[in-house]
Amino acid sequence: MKRNRHPYLFTPGPAPVPPEVLLEMARPVIHHRTPHFAAVLDSVRQQLQPLFGTRQEVILLASSGTGAMEAVVANLLSPDEHAVYVDGGKFGERWGQLIRAHGATAHQVRVEWGRSVRAEQVEDALTANPQAKAVFVQASETSTGALHPIAEIGEVTRRHDVILVVDGITSVGVFEQKMDVWGVDALVTGSQKALMLPPGLAMVALSERALAQASKCRGRRFYFDLLRELKSQRDEHTTAYTPAVSLVFGLHKALELIHAETLPRVFARLLLMAEATRAAAQALGLEILPENPAPGLTAILAPKNIDSGQIVRYMRDELGVWVQGGQDRMKGRLIRIGHMGHLSPFDMLTAVSALEIALGRVGYAFECGAGVAAVQRRISQGI
Ligand SMILES: *Cc1c(COP(=O)(O)O)cnc(C)c1O
Repeated sequence: MKRNRHPYLFTPGPAPVPPEVLLEMARPVIHHRTPHFAAVLDSVRQQLQPLFGTRQEVILLASSGTGAMEAVVANLLSPDEHAVYVDGGKFGERWGQLIRAHGATAHQVRVEWGRSVRAEQVEDALTANPQAKAVFVQASETSTGALHPIAEIGEVTRRHDVILVVDGITSVGVFEQKMDVWGVDALVTGSQKALMLPPGLAMVALSERALAQASKCRGRRFYFDLLRELKSQRDEHTTAYTPAVSLVFGLHKALELIHAETLPRVFARLLLMAEATRAAAQALGLEILPENPAPGLTAILAPKNIDSGQIVRYMRDELGVWVQGGQDRMKGRLIRIGHMGHLSPFDMLTAVSALEIALGRVGYAFECGAGVAAVQRRISQGI
């Protein structure tokens, strides 16, 4: 952040936090077994429901997103049970690791990085493994920028009468979720992506079917006992253990901002930023990785024979513009630009302009300004 007074944060998590939310979190910490905290907790849990597309209770946890992923595994799968998971990237792979860590058997549906799973692939896996109790998938696979078709997978899991667990960490608050309509049984998210908060809070909603399965589940859990949390948060208006009080205050403010903008406008703004960034990539002669791109981030393939790490580091260290490279097998090959958090379409001019400067620096030949012009064109077309 050499030349800037603040880093321009375009990482797809953590995402920039609005000043109003930062201020809210600077309030004195209060005790959590109080009517004041209870009112805030009730309010945020209720205001999260439209983001999840559910009328079910949303449960708050003090953890990063992975904690919520682990919580649903521990509450929905018993140690000797089987599950199918979609592995199309780093986070899909994590479902497999979590399922195995809890002593259950994980059947992988392998998806090439950048591709979206087809509902038939999930169906085939369930037919091949009729003992499977659940399917685990990402709505948006942040390591590749790809969307997975949750509504179609929901039809398959309903037909096979298995639980559908969705990681919505870069989907909830990014594009419309219809948890109840799609037949999603567990939907999880975290605070540091679209919810415009620092890391440290996670949220889970469970369907009636998932709640029934949780009450029979023999999976080991203590802190992450979701039925206990639900009882505490719904009936006693407080959390079972000490909550992340300041983050819950921040969430209250962030949800106020989101609902004031209105969800359809939030979704349209994010989509516009994604489309502008995709147009910029194309104008610069670059390809994006996903066949079916998610709106929360844009995953651009680095030019051939150029290490994306060089580009990402130059942007960060020399320009103060933070984007993310690729993970694992995409290390050195991807430039991931986030659209989530306290960002607006004009901010994409900054991101793309810095990308162009870095591309020039690493010796890539392109028409200078072509990416920025593409962003401007997309912005001027409006929402
Ligand atoms: C960021 C992310 C996670 C991991 O969340 P943590 O908060 O780092 O634990 C999981 N899944 C997806 C899709 C993500 O984008």
